[in-house]
Amino acid sequence: MQNQSEHTLDPDNWDDMRAQGHRMLDDIFDHMQRLNDGPVWQPAPAEVRQVFKEALPKTQTGLDQVHRSFLRNILPYAIGNAHPGFMGWVQGGGTPVGMLAEMLAAGINANVGGRDQIPVEVERQVVRWVRELFSFPDTASGIFVTGTSLANLIGVLVARTSALGTDARKTGLRVNGTRLVAYASKAAHGCVTQAMDLSGLGIDALRSIPFTRHGEIDLDILQSTIEHDRENGYTPFLIVGNAGTVDTGAVDNLSALADVAQREKLWFHVDGAYGALGMLAPDVAPRLSGIERADSIAFDFHKWAQIQYDAGFILVRDGSMHYDTFASPAAYLQRETRGMAANSPWPCDFGPDLSRGFRALKTWFAIKTYGAERLGKVISGTCALARYLGNRIQDDTRLELLAPVSLSIVCFRYRGQDGSAITDPARLDRINNDIVIALQESGIAAPSTTIIDGRLAIRVALFNHRTNATHIDAMLNAVLELGAEAARS
Ligand SMILES: *Cc1c(COP(=O)(O)O)cnc(C)c1O
Repeated sequence: MQNQSEHTLDPDNWDDMRAQGHRMLDDIFDHMQRLNDGPVWQPAPAEVRQVFKEALPKTQTGLDQVHRSFLRNILPYAIGNAHPGFMGWVQGGGTPVGMLAEMLAAGINANVGGRDQIPVEVERQVVRWVRELFSFPDTASGIFVTGTSLANLIGVLVARTSALGTDARKTGLRVNGTRLVAYASKAAHGCVTQAMDLSGLGIDALRSIPFTRHGEIDLDILQSTIEHDRENGYTPFLIVGNAGTVDTGAVDNLSALADVAQREKLWFHVDGAYGALGMLAPDVAPRLSGIERADSIAFDFHKWAQIQYDAGFILVRDGSMHYDTFASPAAYLQRETRGMAANSPWPCDFGPDLSRGFRALKTWFAIKTYGAERLGKVISGTCALARYLGNRIQDDTRLELLAPVSLSIVCFRYRGQDGSAITDPARLDRINNDIVIALQESGIAAPSTTIIDGRLAIRVALFNHRTNATHIDAMLNAVLELGAEAARS
């Protein structure tokens, strides 16, 4: 008989594995505790990239050796969103609690597609909390998904079911020749366009409505576009509102959009990837007024709420419409009232995934451990930092704000030394772009760029609970130094 241990992946010696595991845990805690001491980001040298070009390993390598390679070749070269100097994009920082919960989830290795198991109940608990947060009824449904890109797609698909009925799932879109059209502001995230594409409705079926000086969808143009579409034989079916645009953090007038949707009998979906969880913060929640009237809300726990990647979520007011959009009969998914196939409907009935990881556990742990109030305080804190940065920019003639500070994103640019503002637009764009790249390479801070009214902006997106005023000051001082250098040359 062959050696039994070759047929299992468990260790021969659990004590050794346990000791190695404890060392790995210590190493990653060390890393988290000392994040601030290292650079936000550094480019990986060629030797490191080369490590990832090796052929398929056919034989064993000691776990300690593989872990050493992780410490040397992977850990130092992530994008740095956990680091307090990270201000580049709309990304959360993660927490030690979330990390530990991820480890526990991996230990259970639950497949949370369905069946009668408490991991599914944990996800249902989060659904209940989310309903409570948004004042949705008990009949509302929700599931975890990868991120808001998928959650927005699900929102569009449920809205499509609402408009065309479930027959469209069988016959496709050409139901009675109806041409469905949807509306979102030009500031909507690219994944809304993608959702129109993937749903088969087509990108052209999304009407991109201009936004105001404050970044909010222009309600007059929205109304006239809907009327124009109806006159031309189209069937308006969906409005997508923004709760925090990705470029500037602007929030559409959600109450007014809810009114339009109600009057015009359209599905009202909110892309709240960034902003929806602002509901946790008493000073931000009033800004989102109207979100409680949405038909569906897409959002990310992995952004403002600091849950480990990935943890997107879709919430749908009409749970049966949601179910009717995805549920399908299959012999191997037979439901029962007893045994392991009980307790239907299951998460797999509300989205395209059958096998699903236990995203709910890290979310449950973090919400229980930190509590909603403390998570809300983190959110408020990032907005306060954004206001602090906005004020510093407005007080400095060398700098210029390019968009109003709405939530926690600040868009600005360097404009030249006192009394000698640079006037050539192309040169200004180039200088600001160079400042951002130099900052990223410096490891001090990592903002990004975007285009506001055709002007290149330095975009500081504040999402990380580890970022404080000293990081803002370090970033701004570096911008001023790099700017002064560039202005001289
Ligand atoms: C991040 C973001 C998305 C996309 O969400 P993912 O989780 O990255 O898929 C969509 N909309 C907005 C406003 C975002 O900020």
